[in-house]
Amino acid sequence: MKPFEKCPVCGGELQDKQVEKLIRSGGNTVALKVNAEVCLHCGERLYAEDVVKSFEKIRSKLQKQEFSHFRTLGQSFTVESNWPNKSIQPTR
Ligand SMILES: [Zn+2]
Repeated sequence: MKPFEKCPVCGGELQDKQVEKLIRSGGNTVALKVNAEVCLHCGERLYAEDVVKSFEKIRSKLQKQEFSHFRTLGQSFTVESNWPNKSIQPTR
């Protein structure tokens, strides 16, 4: 299914690609690979409707701290609030 023929942002050519996507919610992150239409000109990514629905589902699972269908892949960190350089702050 091709939702778009041309990039809706710049009118550029679209190409089917597998891209890496990070979904963050509730302080948690899920990394996955997904098929998308990627604009060769501006890099805009377009996802099929069912893919967008899956992203929403993943986001709401993360928000509710529900981790079924996910597996651990490394660990995520943020800095402590006393990091010596005050320009660097924890994300939350
Ligand atoms: Zn574009």
